[in-house]
Amino acid sequence: MKLTFLGTGTSTGVPQIGCRCEVCTSSDPREKRLRSSVMIEVSPGRNLLIDCGPDFREQILRAGAPPLSALLITHSHYDHVGGIDDMRPYCYPSSFPVYCLADVARDLRERVPYCFRKHLYPGVPTFDIHVIDPSRPFTVDGIEITPLPVMHARLPIIGFRIGNLAYITDCSAMPPDTLSKIHGVDTLIINALRREPHMSHMNLSQALEVIRSAAPRRAFLTHLSHGMGLIDDTRPLLPPGVDIATDSLTVEIP
Ligand SMILES: [Zn+2]
Ligand SMILES: [Zn+2]
Repeated sequence: MKLTFLGTGTSTGVPQIGCRCEVCTSSDPREKRLRSSVMIEVSPGRNLLIDCGPDFREQILRAGAPPLSALLITHSHYDHVGGIDDMRPYCYPSSFPVYCLADVARDLRERVPYCFRKHLYPGVPTFDIHVIDPSRPFTVDGIEITPLPVMHARLPIIGFRIGNLAYITDCSAMPPDTLSKIHGVDTLIINALRREPHMSHMNLSQALEVIRSAAPRRAFLTHLSHGMGLIDDTRPLLPPGVDIATDSLTVEIP
């Protein structure tokens, strides 16, 4: 299994529009972060997409516009679903499969209502929505996927475990039950917004605490804002086996 980080930035992306801080003005390509999303190659030519933010078009072109089998959505905030209209090339000849919670399905119908009308305008994308139960695994093309319920401030959202990989973004608190579902995983990807605390996202020290408890072989931090500081200043603060994800980074999952 191979994972590609399509984006590793928070909702504003990095640089943040108008900001003159040292991260936002850096010329280092590692400091450029599109909105968070990953693509997972589960077998040759079969790719799952997790989240489809407003940078999706640029991200998928940058990745070579590979085929996609399904979209898994963590939650319906704009930075995770804002690019869904750009999925139209993937919606032919049949509706594109989407797996999400019931509240996300409802929000999608409100956000892009023209994709769900009885009489469709020619060319609009169409989606085959599968509502998932956060408490039980589901399968996509024979691949078992375990939802990982976490809290995003007061909003219950999900991450996903696929084999030896766990992907969790926009988490501010992790229930013990979810911690047990990721314990000992090979590769854990988890959000860490910045150094300072935040009401709806874990900061660096909270993410490192979850990583310590989950004891993965290795972990990557994602969904960063400019508030994390320069990557070369933050790396020395990380324990062994933990690194900061960067856009377009590809990792093999055993
Ligand atoms: Zn987000
Ligand atoms: Zn900045």
